Amino acid sequence: MAQISLTFPDGNSRDFARGVTAAEVAAAIAPSLGKAAISASVDGKHWDLQWPIEADATIAIHTMKDDAQALELIRHDFAHVMARAVQKLWPEVKVTIGPVIENGWYYDFDRDEPFTPEDLGLIEKEMKAIINERDPVRTEVWDRSRAIAHYVAKNEPFKVELIEAIPGDEPLRMYWHGHWQDLCRGPHLQHTGQLPADAFKLMSVAGAYWRGDHTKKQLQRIYGVAFKNRDDLKAHLTMLEEAAKRDHRKLGREMELFHLQEEAPGMVFWHPNGWTIYRALEDYMRRRLTRAGYKEIKTPQVVDRVLWERSGHWEAYRENMFIVEVEEEHAREKRINALKPMNCPCHVQVYNQGLKSYRDLPLRLAEFGSCHRYESSGSMHGLMRVRGFTQDDAHIFCTEDQIEAECAGFLDLLSSIYADLGFAKFDIKLSTRPDVRVGSDEIWDKAETALENAIKKVRNDYEVDPGEGAFYGPKLDFKLTDAIGREWQCGTFQADFNLPMRLGAEYVGEDGAKHRPVMLHRAILGSFERFLGILIENYAGKLPFWLAPRQIVVASIVSDADDYVNEVVAKLRDAGLRAEADTRNEKINYKVREHSVGKVPAILAIGMKEVAERTVSVRRLGETRTDTMPLADAIAAFRAEATPPDLK
Ligand SMILES: [Zn+2]
Ligand SMILES: [Zn+2]
Repeated sequence: MAQISLTFPDGNSRDFARGVTAAEVAAAIAPSLGKAAISASVDGKHWDLQWPIEADATIAIHTMKDDAQALELIRHDFAHVMARAVQKLWPEVKVTIGPVIENGWYYDFDRDEPFTPEDLGLIEKEMKAIINERDPVRTEVWDRSRAIAHYVAKNEPFKVELIEAIPGDEPLRMYWHGHWQDLCRGPHLQHTGQLPADAFKLMSVAGAYWRGDHTKKQLQRIYGVAFKNRDDLKAHLTMLEEAAKRDHRKLGREMELFHLQEEAPGMVFWHPNGWTIYRALEDYMRRRLTRAGYKEIKTPQVVDRVLWERSGHWEAYRENMFIVEVEEEHAREKRINALKPMNCPCHVQVYNQGLKSYRDLPLRLAEFGSCHRYESSGSMHGLMRVRGFTQDDAHIFCTEDQIEAECAGFLDLLSSIYADLGFAKFDIKLSTRPDVRVGSDEIWDKAETALENAIKKVRNDYEVDPGEGAFYGPKLDFKLTDAIGREWQCGTFQADFNLPMRLGAEYVGEDGAKHRPVMLHRAILGSFERFLGILIENYAGKLPFWLAPRQIVVASIVSDADDYVNEVVAKLRDAGLRAEADTRNEKINYKVREHSVGKVPAILAIGMKEVAERTVSVRRLGETRTDTMPLADAIAAFRAEATPPDLK
């Protein structure tokens, strides 16, 4: 029998019969590994233990210790087990699809009656019973006609439609969890007993259209979360509770920051308090960019489709663009414009004005660029996902040799800004060349190496995602971790070899000949709207003093103190602080409670003692004790505290 050679992670190789399964390989290494194995990686591909290996390859056997593979399998197997449980309880329910998502999975069902919270409890119980049965997972490859005939006979019309939509005539893979069968690419666990029965929970039911198409049938989507063990599940549920408490939409109401309404879905109405935070952040970013050698520009909102055709957006991105038709005076035809969904093409227009030479590079053009993108109404979420937003955008035009230095400078700026804003921890991911791409291999080699070298200067841990770069160049993504452990992708740094070519950007090199600059797209916050949502939730509304929209409320205890209250407010404002008076005829405790809900960091209580001594009694948000101090000392202390981190 023909032999193949498998190479293990330690570099050792061993021969096996061609067609050996990963399960057989695991068992050959050690029977205990055969039992503990959950899947394998064969030439880097996540591999089911039952799949045969037909050629020389590298192989790694995975157990529950391998987080990424374990969680993917657990969540995926749970999707199947949940569908099996649902059909056990209600055999008439039709099954559709059930992918893995962040922290869990969902599965879409066609059932006339809505699933109730009690139903979710029943399903969970049934799932635990299935896990207890330790049913083997089995897989077979079927040809298409057999698969279609099978699902027609079982009266599962959605599965038939799914198979018919798969192009070509390739065979299809079937999976069984016990007797229950589903069409699936795999891989899966060895048996249902490998699922952690105490580490999953069904979370909610939502409506979802078949294939995401609102003209098609509405299905019911059940969401579940799953982890490797009970402690991880508990930590996740606690995090969700904490997240609900700090939901920026709730805090946005309580702190009177912003609102959204039907007439402008996904576009923010900023109120005075919210806009104050926005401007404090924008001022800060502007100072940082200026110091880092960026030049700020402003480009139009409404731009003729001709430019979008040249940039390629009209073809590739049109369904996300807001189109604006204008009946031009004396024109025979309507002129078609679009609200800009990105700033890049406009920045190239600024670059293209006047001949550029190598001495002008790198040229860093920044814009707080207001963009609009059409997002489906179901995907919008407070400030986190909107249709109208402002990017902290910039494009660096540079030579190929300057990419590394520009990337290093960007990494310094980004780390310093994240630290100033309270995010000490962030992760970097490098995405490299995809199969379909523009630009020569030489320039990809150069750019990928430049990005990697720049990262290595600041840290040694980063993730590489092979093949996941944009078609126009490699990119870095930056994910920060907030106070309750959630990750948010905010910053980006992308090399682009394509747009300068499409839009004719050039510079005259030292050799006197014309060259294409490389364009670096980069953002640190992403969008102001979303980043403010993240900031509000990270701090649970208790923003650092320099960002707090209302910094100080001066509250009277008795009305005879009103004049002094107004004097204190005036002096605080003269010192550049955001202060307001509360001389309402209310009890001081009532005032303190109300301003605490509004997350005002400092309340100065003023009674006749303070008036007589020209002092203030400072009460900090969330604390019960007060500090009495001379007014001048308080002003000096608040001024120091209100100084933005970059000006300290
Ligand atoms: Zn599956
Ligand atoms: Zn761009």
